[in-house]
Amino acid sequence: MNMNFERKLAIPMEVKEMYPLDARLAEIVADRDRQIKDILSGKDDRLLLVIGPCSADREDSVLAYISRLRKAEDRVKDKIFIVPRIYTNKPRTTGDGYKGMLHQPDPTEKPDMFKGIVAIRELHMRALAECGFSCADEMLYPENHRYLDDVLAYVAVGARSVENQQHRLTASGVEVPVGMKNPTSGDYSVMLNAITAAQHSHTFIYRGWEVTSEGNPFAHAILRGYMNKHGQSLPNYHYEDLLLLSELYSARNLQNPAVIIDTNHANSGKNPFEQPRIIKEVMQNCRYNPTIRKMIRGFMVESYIEDGAQKVTECVYGKSITDPCLGWEKTEKLIEELAQLV
Ligand code: PEP
Ligand code: MN
Repeated sequence: MNMNFERKLAIPMEVKEMYPLDARLAEIVADRDRQIKDILSGKDDRLLLVIGPCSADREDSVLAYISRLRKAEDRVKDKIFIVPRIYTNKPRTTGDGYKGMLHQPDPTEKPDMFKGIVAIRELHMRALAECGFSCADEMLYPENHRYLDDVLAYVAVGARSVENQQHRLTASGVEVPVGMKNPTSGDYSVMLNAITAAQHSHTFIYRGWEVTSEGNPFAHAILRGYMNKHGQSLPNYHYEDLLLLSELYSARNLQNPAVIIDTNHANSGKNPFEQPRIIKEVMQNCRYNPTIRKMIRGFMVESYIEDGAQKVTECVYGKSITDPCLGWEKTEKLIEELAQLV
């Protein structure tokens, strides 16, 4: 192979021994898992709000952001259940650029995969221990899931991975809800096929083992907008888009037919300031049509301390180095407005 095997990395069990979860933290995770499943099954009518920066670029500003979320949630917790986004590995359209904390614990330095594995576990554990939040991450590399499986509340399979068999099979063996994004082309059938595959049991190879998964009844849809052949971003959160998804869900025998609306990415055309408006439109459609209200189980929002985005080399604290985000003041307002609409 045209590849240098640099060093053997610690396996998930070894990293978990270095950073173990104690009984108090495991109880917080279990309690939050139950609540999220009740929301996705419709037993609990609160909305899920998966919210946070596009990428978790540094530990200090991400934890400061998450502690703000903790205070904001206290005021709305009878309406909204918050799951912070701690996205530690980033898919890149052409493969270039910052690939996330897993690759570069310091975004201005060279990749270091061992430091990266330790950094992402430490960050998720600190969010849990210091703010009581188990969080969401993207499963970009399915074989890495076990480094974090005991601390995550929610897993997303991204628009560029959702057609991949190993992602689908691994999702079928993940214990927490997995959101399957629509692909960048927008094709709903790719997303629904991913959900179907994830809800079933499979036998396959995972980390050098023959494994059998149980199937994940909480695999569900995330609509994130799409790109047409001219490279233009088009939304898929409008009334007709939701109606179509509801019909397609009805035609398949899937458990817990739920959708989370991702308000950034191609839905906002990467203009993060459109996110509050998008939420209001979706909530309006929920009021108009109870079938849509039943299917919409929450939102995914890209938000951070500062508005917008910057280049990696600019180093402004709390400002995104990947997709532009909604800053804190506007985020606080959005959370309060959403609570009034639930
Ligand atoms: C993201 O959530 O930041 C992301 C990369 O999403 P998508 O897979 O929808 O592009
Ligand atoms: Mn993003």
